[in-house]
Amino acid sequence: MIKRKKTVNILLLIGTFSTTLIVGQNNNNTQSGRIEVKEQKTIRTPEEAVEELKNGNLRFLANAPINTNFKGQIEATKGNQAPHSIILSCIDSRIPPEIIFDQGIGNVFVARVAGNIQDPNILGSMEFATKVIGSKLIVVMGHNRCGAIRGAIENVQLGNLTQLVNQIKPSIPIDAVDADSKSTRTALQNVKLTISSIMNNSQVIKGLIAEGKVKIVGAFYDVTSGKVTFYE
Ligand SMILES: [Zn+2]
Repeated sequence: MIKRKKTVNILLLIGTFSTTLIVGQNNNNTQSGRIEVKEQKTIRTPEEAVEELKNGNLRFLANAPINTNFKGQIEATKGNQAPHSIILSCIDSRIPPEIIFDQGIGNVFVARVAGNIQDPNILGSMEFATKVIGSKLIVVMGHNRCGAIRGAIENVQLGNLTQLVNQIKPSIPIDAVDADSKSTRTALQNVKLTISSIMNNSQVIKGLIAEGKVKIVGAFYDVTSGKVTFYE
C-alpha cells in the first residue's frame, strides 16, 4: 500500500517537470537530478534525436510518460513547430509513434502507410521535414505481426493493396523455415530496403545525410512488449 502511494507521488512529480519544461524550456529544472527522468532538451544533432526517442520508449515501457500536458503543448507550439524527427511507420493501430516514443504534440512528424514503405509523397514529406523545417532524424520503423507483411507473403490481390504488397515482396526471404520467422525477417529486410530506397530516390535527403545534418535509422517495434529496437 505504501509502495503504491510512493509510485503515484513520483509520477505526479514527473508530470510537474514535464509542464515546467514545455512552458519554460529546461533552464529552471533544478530538481530534475532527483529523479531519473530524461526529458528532451533542445535537440541539435541526429544523435540527440535518437537518444530522445530511445529515452521516450523507455518512459513508455515504464508506463511513465511525461509528454502528457497536451494543453500546454498546444500553447507552446501554436506559433510554429520544430519537430526533431520524422518517423515513417506502419498504419497498424497498435503502433502510434507519438505514444510509444512519448513525444506528445509538436515533437515529431509522423508518416504512416501500411508496411512502412516509401513513395514520392512520403519522400516529399521527408524532404519538407528535414530540408524545410530542419528535422535531424529520419526513422523507418517496422514491426512484427504486420498485416501488410503477411499480405505480401500470402500474395494478397485486392484493389490498390496489390501494388502496395508488391513493393514489400523483394524483402521476403526464400529460406525461412517457419511463418513467424519469415514474417519477422521480411519486416526487418523491408526496413532496410525502404532506407536504401529513400536514399536512392531523394537527392535532397542523400545530400543532407552526406553533410551530416540528418541521419536515417531503422527501428523495429515489438507488438508483444512495446519495445523498440534501433538499427543505426
Ligand atoms: Zn504493419
